[in-house]
Amino acid sequence: MAAPLRLLSRLTVVTGGGSGIGRAVCQRFAAEGASVVVADVNEDSANETLQSLPRDYRGQKHSVVGVEVSSKESVERMVTTIQRGYFQPPSVCVSAAGITRDEFLLKMEEGDFDRVVQVNLKGTFLLTQAVSRALVASGSPKGSIITVGSIVGKVGNIGQVNYSASKAGVEGLTRTAAKELSRFGIRCNCVLPGFITTPMTEKVPEKVINMITSMIPLGRLGQPAEVADACAFLASDDSRYITGVSIEVTGGLFIG
Ligand code: NAP
Repeated sequence: MAAPLRLLSRLTVVTGGGSGIGRAVCQRFAAEGASVVVADVNEDSANETLQSLPRDYRGQKHSVVGVEVSSKESVERMVTTIQRGYFQPPSVCVSAAGITRDEFLLKMEEGDFDRVVQVNLKGTFLLTQAVSRALVASGSPKGSIITVGSIVGKVGNIGQVNYSASKAGVEGLTRTAAKELSRFGIRCNCVLPGFITTPMTEKVPEKVINMITSMIPLGRLGQPAEVADACAFLASDDSRYITGVSIEVTGGLFIG
């Protein structure tokens, strides 16, 4: 089934666009007519995403920008580069860059706690701040900011004290940003994936995946494209009266 064209002429930026969920979001946004900036620390994989993007609509222009989301300087440089290249700030951004460094609480190194929080939580803060500042300064700030949390930020997960804390933080950040930015016409919402088949979950041992799968009411792991579907809805005017919410994309895992 062809994607609807809800994002025609929209400029979008997706961090973590080189892999997994971020790549699927780039592909979905491009299929809906958006111009997509694929942003990632890994420029080779970002370029692979770029090659996969459809360019079917007039004025549609995709590009790659290298970014280290935990660095304020790098994130600000990325937004400046986008504005120079497109003569406008992105009106949709998705913070899909993220990492795991799993270990039990009793054994976790401070450095692994800090790094996960820096990339997942601080990276989301820096992107949200830089994009919303650029939008407000542009004088036509209507925008949609989409953050990527995780269901484990709500329910916790053994071995992920750093990751679940960072993702709970992303939800709180998103709700607060929604309250502060709605007066400028900028909406902020969060998607909470459950367990999605990507390079990130390839690291999870098979027996753990089997155990999790048995707990998912829909009976399978999710696909990155299924998270991208929720992001496209939140990016588009179909969600114009929705801000400050979290949408669980989990196949029903941990309902209630
Ligand atoms: P993924 O396939 O590992 O993709 C993450 C991408 O982000 C990679 O291209 C990675 O580059 C990039 N990245 C990592 N650190 C970065 C940094 N400091 N600056 C810029 N880019 C960076 O992971 P995914 O599964 O698609 O996850 C995407 C998002 O969804 C993450 O926020 C993750 O926490 C969240 N999520 C995933 C799941 C799941 O089941 N997969 C569930 C809940 C939430 P490298 O490959 O070079 O590191």
